[in-house]
Order: sequence, then C-alpha cells, then structure tokens
Amino acid sequence: MGRYLGPKCRLCRREGIKLMLKGARCETAKCPMERQWRNFPPGVHGWRRGRRSEYSDRLREKQKVKRYYGVFEKQFRRYFQEADRLKGNTGEVLLTLLEHRLDNVVCKVGFAPSRAAARQTVSQGHIYLNGRPARVPGRAVKVGDRITVKPGEKSQKLIRAHLEEYGEPHVQDWLRLDMTNLTADVVGEPTREDVMIPVEEQLIVELCSQ
Ligand code: SF4
Repeated sequence: MGRYLGPKCRLCRREGIKLMLKGARCETAKCPMERQWRNFPPGVHGWRRGRRSEYSDRLREKQKVKRYYGVFEKQFRRYFQEADRLKGNTGEVLLTLLEHRLDNVVCKVGFAPSRAAARQTVSQGHIYLNGRPARVPGRAVKVGDRITVKPGEKSQKLIRAHLEEYGEPHVQDWLRLDMTNLTADVVGEPTREDVMIPVEEQLIVELCSQ
C-alpha cells in the first residue's frame, strides 16, 4: 500500500483549502493556511500564477479529493469506475463511496486525529470490524457494521488517549459512537452533505469522463 510521505501542508497550500491532514495542528494558528504570508501555492512562483484553465480547474478538484481521502490515482480511478457503474449522480456517488472507507470512518468517530493517522491505526491492527481484525484502510463499511478497538491494553490506551486529547467528536448522523466501550456503529448511508470539504464534483466527472 503506497502512501504520500511528503510535506502535508504543501498539499493544502496547493489546493488553497484546509484539507485537515495533520489533526489538532490544523485547528491552531500554526496552520500555514491561517498565516497570510504562507497562504499561497507552494513553489517559488506560487503567488505569481495567472488565471487557471478549465482543465486546471477540473484537475484541482480531483487532486483535492484524492488528497483529502489519501488515495492515489489508480485507486481513485477504480472508485470513479464504480461510481459511474452505479445509479445516481456520478459525482455524488463517487464522494459517498470515498466516505465509506474504513479509515475515513475511524477518523470521523475520533479514533484517530486525521485520515493519515487513521490509516496507520487500521493497518497496525488496532481496529476491529465486526469483531475481526481489519487491516485494510480502504475497506468499505456498510450499514450494520460495528467498528471496535482491539481488546489489547495498548490499543485501548492509544484510542482513549486520542479521544481524551481531542475531546468528544461531533459524529455525523450516519455513525454512532459509544465512547465508554470504544465502539462505533454504521447506522445509515453517508450523503453528499456529510462530505466536509467544498468540492465541485461535476468538474471531476467531466475530467474523468474524457
Ligand atoms: Fe497543514 Fe493542517 Fe493547515 Fe493543512 S490544514 S495546512 S495539513 S496544518
């Protein structure tokens, strides 16, 4: 499983929005997007770039989504093909498919401070899905699934520490969290409104359909 190892804040600066890739730090004044002198695209000529082309607008929307969910091009293409095959608005279906990822859910219920941390938490075996170890961060959850923490002391301590440090998260309607037992249930389907970044999914569909 490949993963991006470069500077994360650079990705936010490139996309011009806060992708929340660093957990708690993203909420503080240390975030470069909060500082005027760093809030422009990376690179020596970042602040000089002129008007963007249509292609560039579409590409940026796609890159934004890929970076937010932490998926690479090949995986993203697979999600797009699946969304294209399913009924409904392709752009919205694409986003909801990405919302179903286990690492996204682990992050949203507060078991990890960011999607990158959630990916690591899952692949290190701290998370169980329906009572069995789930080491694949991209695994899709479905209604009725139960996400728990490995019974071992180390895993329980790790997740409790996250929850204590960052406080009780605001859990979306399609998820339910039991802080006492460290259990999260998938009680519904995510909708377009549950996607937390501003994105024009239609531009992605236009780009990927070419
Ligand atoms: Fe860095 Fe987080 Fe700010 Fe993005 S939102 S620039 S990852 S601190």
